Amino acid sequence: MPDLRVLVGVSHAAGGRIDGTYASYALAVRDELFDALVAETASLTEEFTNAGKSLYLVGGIVRDTLLGRGGAELDIDFTTNAEPDEIESIVRRSSPTALWTQGKRFGTIGATFVGPNGPRAVEITTHRAEQYHDGSRKPEVRFSTDITLDLSRRDFTVNAMAFDLHGLRLLDPFGGEADLRARVLRTPLSPEISFRDDPLRMLRAARFIAALGLIADPLVTDAVIRHRERMAIISAERIRGELTKLLTLEDPSDGLRFLSNTGLVSTFLPELALGDLHRRTARVLAMEPTWERRFTALLFGAFASEAAARSRLRALKCSVDEETLVVKIRRLGSIDLPDAVEHDSAARRLVYRAGSELDLFLSLQRADAVARMAAGDHDADAVRSVVDALRFKLKTLAKLGELDDLGPPLNGEEVMDLLGLLPGREVGEALDMLRDLRLDEGQLPRPDVERRLMEWFDRHLSERG
Ligand code: ATP
Ligand code: MG
Repeated sequence: MPDLRVLVGVSHAAGGRIDGTYASYALAVRDELFDALVAETASLTEEFTNAGKSLYLVGGIVRDTLLGRGGAELDIDFTTNAEPDEIESIVRRSSPTALWTQGKRFGTIGATFVGPNGPRAVEITTHRAEQYHDGSRKPEVRFSTDITLDLSRRDFTVNAMAFDLHGLRLLDPFGGEADLRARVLRTPLSPEISFRDDPLRMLRAARFIAALGLIADPLVTDAVIRHRERMAIISAERIRGELTKLLTLEDPSDGLRFLSNTGLVSTFLPELALGDLHRRTARVLAMEPTWERRFTALLFGAFASEAAARSRLRALKCSVDEETLVVKIRRLGSIDLPDAVEHDSAARRLVYRAGSELDLFLSLQRADAVARMAAGDHDADAVRSVVDALRFKLKTLAKLGELDDLGPPLNGEEVMDLLGLLPGREVGEALDMLRDLRLDEGQLPRPDVERRLMEWFDRHLSERG
């Protein structure tokens, strides 16, 4: 639940209309966080003022500061009536430690400055007017000198507030602060138009619902249901970006529920529309909030086949590593865990096959069992005990060094020397045999390993005739 401390005692004017008479109001800068931001950005503000241009904090930084969540690590977004070229020269005069102009076409200059608590990344963007996304993947950007118009094109009212660094007042023409306080997610203008213009906003809605503890306004939910198929025009990269931000939140569950209830999830991960969302969410929550762990947990058990998994992940433009990981976790699912608890050889095989994914695999198995138990499946308790027993066993084996060097105990050179072989298929077969020996029987003294290798080779030669 957001900390609403700083909202208390701050007067506000709810809602406004985009007709030039909107209610903005002076905000005495009594909040320390705003004070600190004003101080930190003072010299930049001065440069803009000297150039006769405005400068506003905008979007996430204003929202988070109102929530008392400000911190030195947040990126700062600014908006201004200066055109991109002018922004660039003003920023150059303000001694940034780095400067980016790649986003200039879209009106954005990026920079880093030395802040009181280390480097601070900022983006300064010319006010925007219409952005057309219709049918295309690339937005067409039009600049504007009107801050209200800029705010009206933003995704949600809570993100459509600006803080005027020159006049030291909050601009909140769409009642974002009241919505933050009432915990509702609304769009500045009609959600129908907004989501048709940029369907990614529907996915962003899920993120802000979860991140800020907001409830979607019914008009927002209805518009998502009506326009969800428009997600098809959004690039996989943009979807991935938003999904990452959602999944790596401490608690993304309300966002996942929104994706499921509105059917939005079916537009990019149709496999998740089937099955038990509750269980899926519980598995996600049980994992630490890293993308890799959360994404794997989200997809756990979703695909009917490996081919289905691969084609879906490719459609989402996942990396080869991500695809490999998901497929690997899927394959490990066929391992007999009780057998691994009972037999050292099976435990070693599990560790060998799972490699660096061992912890993730076991965590997922456990999370799944716990989620099933919560859903009233009493058989799942046995699975949980098996996973716990297995972890204990692996710890013991690891202490004994039994899990070190789980490969063939000799290398290819040594095998060739001992058997008088040249490189070739037989060397590979010998190494496979040595690996099996290591996994089945544990660490053997070197002379025993060599003897077993010779014996194998004799058999091999006589079988070959
Ligand atoms: P975070 O704290 O996660 O960075 P944020 O609100 O800053 O959240 P960003 O994605 O960084 O979100 O976007 C910055 C601001 O730009 C938003 O607050 C919003 O005002 C605006 N914005 C971003 N994406 C869109 C979009 N697709 N449509 C409309 N406005 C957007
Ligand atoms: Mg941001």
